Amino acid sequence: MITVEGLHRHFGGFRAVDDASIEIQTGSITGLIGPNGAGKSTLFNVIAGVLPPTAGRVTMAGEDITGLPPHELFHKGLLRTFQIAHEFSSMTVRENLMMVPGGQSGESLINTWFRRGAIAAEERELARKADEVLAFLTIDHLANEKAGNLSGGQKKLLELGRTMMVDAKIVFLDEVGAGVNRTLLNTIGDAIVRLNQERGYTFCLIEHDMDFIARLCDPVIVMAEGKVLAQGNAKEIMQNEAVIEAYLGT
Ligand code: ADP
Ligand code: MG
Repeated sequence: MITVEGLHRHFGGFRAVDDASIEIQTGSITGLIGPNGAGKSTLFNVIAGVLPPTAGRVTMAGEDITGLPPHELFHKGLLRTFQIAHEFSSMTVRENLMMVPGGQSGESLINTWFRRGAIAAEERELARKADEVLAFLTIDHLANEKAGNLSGGQKKLLELGRTMMVDAKIVFLDEVGAGVNRTLLNTIGDAIVRLNQERGYTFCLIEHDMDFIARLCDPVIVMAEGKVLAQGNAKEIMQNEAVIEAYLGT
């Protein structure tokens, strides 16, 4: 689904991503691991259009998407989760979900007085979809809770839920499990697997928890110092000497 060829992202003279080439197969849950500072988030940000690359090429299903802005990638079904922005914390969980698809075309609709009926129908459809997402993630009891009152793990589930409000093809998750308790981490893991199996989502996820990676991801790509160091299944990766050395070296 995604091919990254010879990607570089430099900051001044520093090569945060240094000639990285990876492939993310359609239907996979691909893991991206590596020591802190390896360049994982930078690579994600370049693929997701948040940062322009210094050099290299990204294609999606054969189409060159290098440097496209996030909203264009969003329309192609390439999503990256973002933390719930401060201004959304006083809105309810359901409202947060309903905000997602409206972002692009909502304004022009709202300005059109005569389309009021259509807007009401659209809103009902969004509310229905939001409730479906909440049930899927087993957080329907939180529908009317203010997003700002959620625990860290519940916020991560809401971030994942936002990707379900649109027709995502591939979702990039940067450390969804960070600071999340074991129970919620399992809920997040289950949601990822179900989205992958039942809805055909492809995932690429950065995660530190090796148990989580080993349970969910195949293949696992390892980065260190901006470069792709190894790729394979979790077992192969954990026995790879270059990988062991990269982790011990930090
Ligand atoms: P990872 O996600 O693997 O921990 P990052 O991609 O966040 O690593 O960062 C890789 C390296 O690039 C780090 O050394 C980091 O300090 C550096 N870096 C990341 N973003 C910037 C930036 N905007 N300006 C300068 N250096 C950056
Ligand atoms: Mg990072």
